Amino acid sequence: MTQTLPLPPGSTIGILGGGQLGRMLALAAGRLGFDAVVLERDADSPAGRVAVRCLVGAYDDPAALKQLTDLADVVTYEFENVPAETVRLLVAQGAEVAPGPRALAVAQDRVEEKTFLNANGAPTVAFAAASTPEEARDAAERIGVPCLMKTRREGYDGKGQRWVEHVADAATAFAALGGVPVIVEAAAEFVRELSVIAARGRDGATAVYPLAENHHEHGILRRSIAPARVTPAMADQAERIAARILSGLDYVGVIGIELFEMPDSRLLVNEFAPRVHNSGHWTQDGCEVDQFEQHIRAVAGWPLGPTHAIAQVEMVNLLGAEADAWLRLAGEPETRIHLYGKRETKPGRKMGHVNRVKPL
Ligand code: AMP
Repeated sequence: MTQTLPLPPGSTIGILGGGQLGRMLALAAGRLGFDAVVLERDADSPAGRVAVRCLVGAYDDPAALKQLTDLADVVTYEFENVPAETVRLLVAQGAEVAPGPRALAVAQDRVEEKTFLNANGAPTVAFAAASTPEEARDAAERIGVPCLMKTRREGYDGKGQRWVEHVADAATAFAALGGVPVIVEAAAEFVRELSVIAARGRDGATAVYPLAENHHEHGILRRSIAPARVTPAMADQAERIAARILSGLDYVGVIGIELFEMPDSRLLVNEFAPRVHNSGHWTQDGCEVDQFEQHIRAVAGWPLGPTHAIAQVEMVNLLGAEADAWLRLAGEPETRIHLYGKRETKPGRKMGHVNRVKPL
């Protein structure tokens, strides 16, 4: 950190991670006059190719982290599994890291996360922690079946999860997940999955985008519709939840909060991601200031931008070979196409997304 906040244009934003979220953050940073520097293991990454500079190294490589600290006026990240040691090293070297270490630590452990959420007035399903086959069985008995067993750490896109239909199967599920510490969650009989993208600035100001309605396939987000059709009471509920999480974490930046809408209209928090979020991509074409610019504004100490919708958007992820239809998609007048520049197409890999835009 060499500059004081708010960072003036010409300052450098460091980004850990070279994927599509890092790419769209780097593009937004560039639009505001900043230089983006990416740290990424792969020398030819989606974010690295649009940043002014890409440092090639592991996230826990002290020399690479020192270089990033020296170059960047603020360091942020595009994925939540940044090793705690990385953040410790960055902070020890004098880097300004946002969102801060607490948000990362809470988000990295599903038990910590749900404990934090409940303590801060953001309701979740009932849950129990287990570290042995016996504890897993007891947890399933206490929570009731069917229940969902998830690894406490490092699950994403539905990976690292098993449904447990009978208490007697809990130990087998525990072993199948690798015998690592798990959380056992009550089954949420939700009517819809929603998410809310929100931001908190350096001054504690918050801004909340309209809710998105999300549809998953094989554990991967397929489609988001935003603004979701919700009652004003539900929108208020989501705003209150977002405000509690942001202030409880003393957060700086954009956060993605995944919600279950229950049959009685209550919202339960499934999880949050301390970063920009796939279900917030609609804001690129549905809002004046999208989640990427908002995140850069927040970490740079700039005022937050407006979050109201200016269009109705259907966001569809382009998975694997679906992105090969770029020419047809680019020819559809209502379709905005966003491609990530990934060199290799793999089945199910997020290669891009489209926002189909209609007037509100
Ligand atoms: P997660 O990895 O926690 O985001 O979970 C991935 C998906 O699994 C969610 O988007 C839901 O569709 C489903 N899911 C997660 N937790 C629960 C739960 N406790 N009850 C029912 N479905 C769940």
